[in-house]
Amino acid sequence: MSEIKKVTVLGTGVLGAQIAFQTAYNGFEVSAYDINEQAIEAARQRMAGLVTSYKADFPEAPDGKAEDTLNRLSYFTDLAKAVADADLVIEAVPEVLEIKRDLYTRLSKVAPAKTIFATNSSTLLPSAIKDFTGRPGKFLALHFANLIWKHNVVEVMGTTETDASVIETCMTFAPKIGMVPVAIHKEKAGYIMNTLSVPFLRAALELVVDGYAEPADVDKVWRISNGVPYGPFQVLDIVGMNTPYNVFGHSDEKGRLIADWIKQNYIDKGKLGLSSGEGFYTYP
Ligand code: NAD
Repeated sequence: MSEIKKVTVLGTGVLGAQIAFQTAYNGFEVSAYDINEQAIEAARQRMAGLVTSYKADFPEAPDGKAEDTLNRLSYFTDLAKAVADADLVIEAVPEVLEIKRDLYTRLSKVAPAKTIFATNSSTLLPSAIKDFTGRPGKFLALHFANLIWKHNVVEVMGTTETDASVIETCMTFAPKIGMVPVAIHKEKAGYIMNTLSVPFLRAALELVVDGYAEPADVDKVWRISNGVPYGPFQVLDIVGMNTPYNVFGHSDEKGRLIADWIKQNYIDKGKLGLSSGEGFYTYP
């Protein structure tokens, strides 16, 4: 088992920025890579926003801890430089198989032999990518949840070719960045999290689309009856409307109806959820 000291995150969008920030917040040097200067500028803004979120959610943390995190983050548009000394690369680029395969093909040529590669893909199986990594033994999925500093679970899932020691290295590393690791014994589309939450969110949407109840009332019943803080529509606002639109739009006929409803009533009106300030609820 090797020790992770330097981490590189590929893709600095919603999840990539959170993974990079969370890792740096816990004391690691992190390199963040994206495709161009515009994307890097957007990443810097996301990181600044995360300083505010961490300060609000960890009021007991030492003064300046969130701000100091920014000093451990470096930004790159050159892939070879970004991964030059990385022990672990976590990839969070768009959920498009061709983009991921192309990136791993380039990555395999420039990363040191020691580097472990991990994909944060939500729906693609790592076995669909492994042959493009040049190192299937050192490749696995590390699946983080949105708002990772609060929803701090990471699902650790290899392929049949992933070395057991690589799984162990990642299981040992995760708590060092404040995450609770959970090993999945064999490949499963959706891991544990989405295997449970996708049918749950769909059932909630069906109740509303079919006219049985209002979103806030569905949430109220779920919260009170189960003693939990969030209902399904609060979860959907956190996830953002694009993901359920894509997931349900690529399922069956009823799923496409739900996707159209999300598009007409929310996406087309700019109501993307928490990130845009309005979804099923409004946010300050
Ligand atoms: P996003 O669209 O917010 O960010 C993607 C980032 O990748 C952007 O900054 C983009 O510029 C960059 N990018 C595009 N092509 C690239 C390339 N070739 N090389 C490097 N960077 C490139 O996407 P996201 O929501 O952060 O999702 C990223 C991954 O994380 C996906 O695989 C997704 O399934 C997974 N994921 C997302 C969530 C979520 O709630 N959003 C949760 C868990 C996992």
